Amino acid sequence: MSTAPCIVGVDIGGTKVACVLADAGGIILARQWQPTRAGEGWQAVVNQLLEMCEAVMQGVSREGIRGIGISCGGPLDSLRGIVYSPPNLPGWDAVPIVRLFEERFGLPVRLENDANATALAEHRFGAGRGTRNMVFMTWGTGIGGGLILDGRLYRGTNDLAGEIGHITILQDGPPCGCGKRGCLEALASGPSIARRARELAGDSPESALWQMTSPEEVTAQHVVDAAQAGDIFARFVLTEAATYMGIGIANLAQIVNPERVVLGTIAVKAGDLVLEPLRRALEVHAWSRVRQVLTVVPAELGGRAQDLAAVCLWLED
Ligand SMILES: [Zn+2]
Repeated sequence: MSTAPCIVGVDIGGTKVACVLADAGGIILARQWQPTRAGEGWQAVVNQLLEMCEAVMQGVSREGIRGIGISCGGPLDSLRGIVYSPPNLPGWDAVPIVRLFEERFGLPVRLENDANATALAEHRFGAGRGTRNMVFMTWGTGIGGGLILDGRLYRGTNDLAGEIGHITILQDGPPCGCGKRGCLEALASGPSIARRARELAGDSPESALWQMTSPEEVTAQHVVDAAQAGDIFARFVLTEAATYMGIGIANLAQIVNPERVVLGTIAVKAGDLVLEPLRRALEVHAWSRVRQVLTVVPAELGGRAQDLAAVCLWLED
């Protein structure tokens, strides 16, 4: 791999796309972002990205750039450089994104799913620094994961390792967006927290939650806000979701024996309101020798994670 000083990182999200130019220490030298023109089809989004990349590379010679990293929601094929049909990018079907970028810029290009790329970023620059075995889990609209094992990203056979949101927690549980039932994501994601509050609304007419919003419009953010203000019902709903999350992490920890689990958005926003019940569930469902070496912490990079995720693809061997 080249030791050129700069790296281009491309983050493809359903609502926002961004390109950055960074150095190998993770310092962002230039940045462009735009709302994703997702409704206009994949060509429009790719053209958006190519233009933004061109802009962040302005004034930098090609020899000064190590490569371009692309972070995108899966499913995708990291080896062949193809993005299949991410749920947040309608109309994407086998888009050869790596080839399109290589042809345009004449630079080497790497593609990785966003949870894996963020795992690399939290491992190098965030809450997973200094660990050899780390699991990163997104915890928001969906629940995804990235495994760093023996210091390296573990992708599995076809890029599906770490899909912890879709382990089955409850037989015949609520339906999941993936088509199964009772997945961790169907029990503990942001939309699942909102759904649970809605389901139980009739039992909790006194909750402060229903002064903030209606059962039809409740979101996980409302539940976190009400819980932080001390509302017992909102705390109950969060505790239930966090307990499922703890069971999922316990199952994973029994398999990969990590030293750290780094948790995304909901853990960052709700802190101990979810971390305490989650740790109690871990105590019940994971062996003490597994727990002895394990800490569960919120992610540290916040808004920087997406910028650094794609860049980190060129900080690996
Ligand atoms: Zn599922």
